[in-house]
Amino acid sequence: MTGETTTEETEVPPGESPAECPYCGRPLESEELLVLHEGIDHWDRLDDERREAFRETYQRENDDLRTFRLKLLGLLVLVYFVFLFVYSWETTDPYSVVTVIPV
Ligand SMILES: [Zn+2]
Repeated sequence: MTGETTTEETEVPPGESPAECPYCGRPLESEELLVLHEGIDHWDRLDDERREAFRETYQRENDDLRTFRLKLLGLLVLVYFVFLFVYSWETTDPYSVVTVIPV
């Protein structure tokens, strides 16, 4: 947990950032992102409570990513079968799927 993220120049209108890093002043969009940023960039300076919060948030982020990937996989399978059926209805190939499925 020592990799510092690159410092990018950001410009946030005053009063627009609900969370700001107490260590480097970086504005962040939400409390959750602040916890993740602290855990990644300022791990050494965190107390046990903040570290625990980071672990929980990180875990939740991983679960969200897994759910997202599963949904994408489901969508991919759906698109695959849609193309397969369109192909099988439109083709005159005697070996196409249409001849195998009794209609
Ligand atoms: Zn920071």
